[in-house]
Amino acid sequence: MGTSRGLIFDVKRFAVHDGPGIRTTVFFKGCPLRCAWCHNPEGISAAPEIMVFSGRCIKGCRSCLPRCPHKALSKRRGSIVLDRGRCDGCGACVKACPAEALQRAGREVSVGELIDEISRDVPFFEKSGGGATFSGGEPLQQAGFLRELLSDCRRKGIRTAVDTAGLAPWETFSGLLPLVDLFLFDLKLIDDERHQRFTGVSNLAILENLQRLSRSGADLAVRIPLVPGVNDGARDLDALAERCAALGRRHPVHILPYHRGYAGKLKRLGLEDFLPATVPPSARQKERARKAFAGHGLDVIFGG
Ligand code: SF4
Ligand code: SF4
Repeated sequence: MGTSRGLIFDVKRFAVHDGPGIRTTVFFKGCPLRCAWCHNPEGISAAPEIMVFSGRCIKGCRSCLPRCPHKALSKRRGSIVLDRGRCDGCGACVKACPAEALQRAGREVSVGELIDEISRDVPFFEKSGGGATFSGGEPLQQAGFLRELLSDCRRKGIRTAVDTAGLAPWETFSGLLPLVDLFLFDLKLIDDERHQRFTGVSNLAILENLQRLSRSGADLAVRIPLVPGVNDGARDLDALAERCAALGRRHPVHILPYHRGYAGKLKRLGLEDFLPATVPPSARQKERARKAFAGHGLDVIFGG
């Protein structure tokens, strides 16, 4: 049994879009990308952070204020205000709040604790052909922890998937190859200048890793978020489809339509909304995307 500890922000049971069958998905903290549409913004920072549900704060209450060792909390117009520049995510305030107005994104767990949690769902995995999915954030950012989890899953006969944004040294990927049943590899844009604008990083290493992973014989699906105004134009879709079709083998393409479900999380985390006016793709936009990939002979599914 592995002994490492890692930082995660959620464990979602009975997931059906993170690989085949019924899955238990573990979300790791920390990601090197800053995608403007990130649906899990609590996974970006590699440190624990506080989510503020200001609407739940009780008007006359001040219970959390004296608990903060850094004087990061105050009240304004009856509601709690957090100074993130002072907060170190210790969580003392969370325990003091009777209204769950403060919640901590990020908990440290050991490999053993997590494997015990995942193992409760083995009967569902066996019936549905499912397993455990490691997602995030970017799971490869905590490579040692991930490796031990994957090894223990293998020992227990639990099938595994790793959902990755693709940015890690190739040696990290290659070290995991014998332990992963399926890679879910996210791809956003081929145009590097715009990739940098919308994700904060170059896509050169990501594209190189995708190519090498495909050549390695790994089982993989390419996951493409379909974000109106970012990558839903004909030129971008064609470039993405061409790149997928040019890989050594034909891998299925999962199109993930943009939605606004993350907007509330941004507010709770005090993060900026970079796409406030963007709306989910229409049926026509989705069909155009499907055709772009199908036209290159690729199998397309919506969701994952
Ligand atoms: S998490 Fe800790 S440092 Fe941050 S506001 Fe709460 S008590 Fe203060
Ligand atoms: S303990 Fe909770 S309800 Fe009370 S002031 Fe703090 S955030 Fe608001």
